[in-house]
Amino acid sequence: MARYVGPVCKLCRREGEKLFLKGERCYGPKCSFEKRGFVPGQHGRTRQGRSERESDYARQLRAKQRARRVYGIFERQFRRYFGVALRKKGLTGLNLLQTLEMRLDNVVYRLGFAGDRAQARQLVNHGHILVNNHKADIPSMLLSNGDVVTVSETALRNGYFKELPEIAEKRLCPLWLSRDAKNLSGRVLRLPERAEIDGNLNEQLIVEYYSR
Ligand code: SF4
Repeated sequence: MARYVGPVCKLCRREGEKLFLKGERCYGPKCSFEKRGFVPGQHGRTRQGRSERESDYARQLRAKQRARRVYGIFERQFRRYFGVALRKKGLTGLNLLQTLEMRLDNVVYRLGFAGDRAQARQLVNHGHILVNNHKADIPSMLLSNGDVVTVSETALRNGYFKELPEIAEKRLCPLWLSRDAKNLSGRVLRLPERAEIDGNLNEQLIVEYYSR
């Protein structure tokens, strides 16, 4: 599956907010948004402060792009998730966010087994992650309630995973997941509620964008 390989910090600057795409670095002084928090490009600085004049379309587009970038998904797949959300009962916007949260790479990240979603995606791609004791190397795999995520026996011998229990312990784990950091395993308990998902995402605008 294709993934974005361009400069990641530029995405934060483009969205005008920190998207926390680079793990620990995002919390330190090296975060480039702290130093250059303006839109990238030749006219970046002059484009600052235009948000109050933004059209509805521009706001909808930015909301959609922000969500895509947070989860690291290309347009085609994101649109497909929107289709899935639309067909489900309930609020389409919430369905969409819940679908995104249930992706395997996101669950690995939420469990604290990776510092950011890109790293989680790599761990999955490299076959280090098992779902219900079966190798799962597709980051976009959607998990369901009760699914158990563990680290493969082979990967546990790897230096990264040897130190991981201690690191994972310090990372927050949402209430919709249960985690055994010591044994590097986790379980999906239920779908996340809206309050448990990134508050900066505006699902209503995303729905409006795709409903034009
Ligand atoms: Fe965004 Fe993190 Fe880069 Fe800062 S360090 S600009 S939060 S990706």
